[in-house]
Amino acid sequence: MTSNMATNGKFHPVQTVYVVREVPGKGYGCFAAMSLKRGTRILEERPLLVVPKADYLSHDIQEAFDKLLPAQKQAFLELHSGHGQDPVRWPSRIHESVSEHERQRIKEQHEARIGKEPSLISIFQVNCMEKDGGAAVFQSASRFNHSCNPNACFTWNSAIGKETIHALRDITLGEEITLSYCDMTHDKQLRAWELKHYGFVCDCRACAEDEDNETTFAYQSAMRRFRLQELDRETRHLRGRKLDEGAKTEGFVKKLLEMAALHQQEGDWTARLANGFLDLALVCEYNGDLKMAELTAMKALEVKKDCQGDDFPEFGKYEEVLKRIQRKVVGLA
Ligand SMILES: [Zn+2]
Repeated sequence: MTSNMATNGKFHPVQTVYVVREVPGKGYGCFAAMSLKRGTRILEERPLLVVPKADYLSHDIQEAFDKLLPAQKQAFLELHSGHGQDPVRWPSRIHESVSEHERQRIKEQHEARIGKEPSLISIFQVNCMEKDGGAAVFQSASRFNHSCNPNACFTWNSAIGKETIHALRDITLGEEITLSYCDMTHDKQLRAWELKHYGFVCDCRACAEDEDNETTFAYQSAMRRFRLQELDRETRHLRGRKLDEGAKTEGFVKKLLEMAALHQQEGDWTARLANGFLDLALVCEYNGDLKMAELTAMKALEVKKDCQGDDFPEFGKYEEVLKRIQRKVVGLA
């Protein structure tokens, strides 16, 4: 497969970045066809099928499917389907407080999972990605398998109208390129629950290794995720618009630094880390620690570019913060 590669934020079709091949027991997977540096844009792709709302029903997918060209319909039908799952793994009763619409939705999804044949919804629900408050399916991006400790990440980039995939760390030739379908701070049990509707059990090293054995990656990873949840609970109310209050709170900067360190140790160079560095920069700027503010603003910009690209809508905000701090450093502001 010929794909494209980003150079300095521009996307040029230059060479084969990855190849798709069969993985025993997993359908297909995507493998690096060359060594890839962190920040490489592995893919940018327009959606194949878009459903502009998150609480979609079967008929919404049918409606979107009916608008496709014959070749697009064919491409959609060739994607992995989540049908054929064991009904005993899923509860069949729905709580009476659930709304009529949601009840219908749960029923349709349940029937699609345990159905004997693929359906539009059984394909859609295991391949869709969030897009502007709705969901979309991407022909190539859907081929990347999951890992709870992935080496790449995906984002909907509304500025270019495409889904992008970026390398989160250096990837070697022949290595499988993976994405995480779940929240990285969640523990193994919760991740397994989130992944259940895709119809597979994750065998990444964070899931497969013994979490109780201190020498394993799984143990270290579980500790990091646990601590990140704790720190998130302790800092969440002081982030965003309350950041100035955070700046005045004892130990707040230390906690943000610890979170950034944990994300890096886990290899999670995602937008969440970029946002953590940006908060650090703003807090340090507020406290007048301009050297530290500059350093963390530079890190924020670097991570943001690497995981989403400099054409991502929010990138300008990160650049502005760094420029403002740098003007203060040289005494111009
Ligand atoms: Zn896993």
